[in-house]
Amino acid sequence: MWTKINHCPLCHSSKIKPYKKGNLIQRGLTPEKIKITDADYGKIWDLSRCQVCGYVFANPFPGESLLASLYIQVEDPEYEAEAEGRRRNFRRLLHQIEKFVPQKGSLFDVGAATGLLLIEARQRGWKVAGIEPSRWAVKIAAEKYGLHLHLGSFEDYRHDENQYDVVTLVDILEHTPDPKKIMVKARELLKPGGIIVIVTPNIESLAARLAGCRWWHFRPGHLGYFNRRSLKTLLNLTSFQVLSWKKYSWNFSFNYLLKRLSVLSWLTKVPKLASLWPRIQIKLALGDSFEVYARKQEVI
Ligand SMILES: [Zn+2]
Repeated sequence: MWTKINHCPLCHSSKIKPYKKGNLIQRGLTPEKIKITDADYGKIWDLSRCQVCGYVFANPFPGESLLASLYIQVEDPEYEAEAEGRRRNFRRLLHQIEKFVPQKGSLFDVGAATGLLLIEARQRGWKVAGIEPSRWAVKIAAEKYGLHLHLGSFEDYRHDENQYDVVTLVDILEHTPDPKKIMVKARELLKPGGIIVIVTPNIESLAARLAGCRWWHFRPGHLGYFNRRSLKTLLNLTSFQVLSWKKYSWNFSFNYLLKRLSVLSWLTKVPKLASLWPRIQIKLALGDSFEVYARKQEVI
């Protein structure tokens, strides 16, 4: 179920070294610990680092079938409670996407959660589809938004090739032991010249350096961490041409932030204030995730 490797999962170099000693045990990987809103920060697996491309990855790592058996059970009501802030994030992403694909064709979202990106895209005139491994999230998407997502892991998704103008991977690549496989699959799904959108944490960002071992992206669900070089390597290996690199900024409610700042979390329990915090939306430009737009290139 857990595999240890002696080469880099991206560039296949054997020049890998231990990077950080983990503070998690394998049975600590539970559905509760891999949900999107998990706030158990500063938790890592034993990490290795590739000396050639700079990719940092869990080693040993859990296999695809173990991950699928956990993700199908994930329930995350707090994710939906933050729907408004998340929808704002996705409207901003779509605005960027439409600079590269002004005619608004078809868009596929990988790891679509409850479908918030897709309902925003649908409202703007996109033809949408997506896949999500959590049974709970797929049910919410159908019941609340009338959106029918494929249930399952993207790795196992059977599909026709060259179908979509855009494939989005928002906070996906860090959750998989084999990001290259995800990218190859996304590439197959895209039409010639189609656009891929990647949002993933940057392990060399200022926020990551300042937070050190307490960085909020060090959590049980995250199995790989990119810097600019390793993400560029992945894009090159899978034949994508970068169109734009950005820093991802977040919208969420003040309430969500308070719950994550342990020193201030008592504020969420003050009755008169409790109804106020969820309504206050803030935008945080932490700059600790990459936001990359790239075009599928034909392999000559
Ligand atoms: Zn490498």
